[in-house]
Amino acid sequence: HKKEMRAKNKRYNLTIDPKASKLLKAKTALEEALKHQELELYCQPQIKIRTGEISGVEALIRWNHPELGQIKPQKFIPVAEQTDSIISIGEWVLRQACLQNRTWQDMGLPNLIMSVNLSPLQLKDTNFINLVESILGETKLAPQWLELEITEKAILANTEIAHQVLQNLRQLGIHLSMDDFGTGYSCLNHLPKFPFGTLKIAQSCVQEITEKPENIAIISAAIALGNSLDLRVIAEGVETNKQLKLLENLDCREAQGYLLSQPLNYQEATRFLEVYQHQ
Ligand code: C2E
Ligand code: CA
Ligand code: CA
Repeated sequence: HKKEMRAKNKRYNLTIDPKASKLLKAKTALEEALKHQELELYCQPQIKIRTGEISGVEALIRWNHPELGQIKPQKFIPVAEQTDSIISIGEWVLRQACLQNRTWQDMGLPNLIMSVNLSPLQLKDTNFINLVESILGETKLAPQWLELEITEKAILANTEIAHQVLQNLRQLGIHLSMDDFGTGYSCLNHLPKFPFGTLKIAQSCVQEITEKPENIAIISAAIALGNSLDLRVIAEGVETNKQLKLLENLDCREAQGYLLSQPLNYQEATRFLEVYQHQ
């Protein structure tokens, strides 16, 4: 019997430990990254299609790794979520985004909504509301210039908590945006139930409209729904003029994507806003 147990333990050690130690290493690496200021916020402009005005920017995190170079969020956010580092990274992103927006306002640049991506784990964090409130206070950013982007998947994962937290966030005066709308989880009746002010049409849907005309009906319905609920409707991942024209014809009012601008670092984004202001 003892022998059997030992064999089991051995197997256990072999299969579980490497994973655990890999995650532990990742957690340490992410905490070091925060400490050594290797994280950077890029911003991608959101543009009103008819007038070309900038309505907002989305904050997108990058990790400038000393050896590996720049790492995109899809590579490390999932790991950060598995190791809980997302809570401290999310706090850093939020503070940095508010600071940056406040700095632009102090420079006399046009007021913009800064949109920040939220992990489902942050939504479940009981301290989150207090954190948002204290960061707004600390950076002296008026709440109407902050928006939080949440995917439907995140809401579905904890509908009860999400409902209360989103109501409380909205009461602070910040905006809420439903991200990646149309990616398979979409449930139309969520939209009016939650206090969203913005609807972001997923880039996979946007990129398909010029290839699969049958999808036009779906995207057109999503835009009409958003417009009728008086939401800002933003098409994501717009890469071609053909897509932009089609979206405009479907009465989509705002767009974001490589066609309009790549995500920009702080210097580039500041320059973008200065040039825009003097046009
Ligand atoms: P997302 O929220 O859907 O962000 C849009 C992604 O599409 C960004 O990728 C952006 O660079 C990219 N994109 C923008 N325009 C175009 C285009 O025209 N074509 C294509 N193909 N892509 C375009 P990025 O920066 O790599 O971010 C990926 C995802 O990582 C984001 O998807 C978001 O879910 C997550 N993420 C980014 N920053 C944060 C953060 O600070 N916190 C959390 N929790 N998640 C973040
Ligand atoms: Ca987003
Ligand atoms: Ca998105």
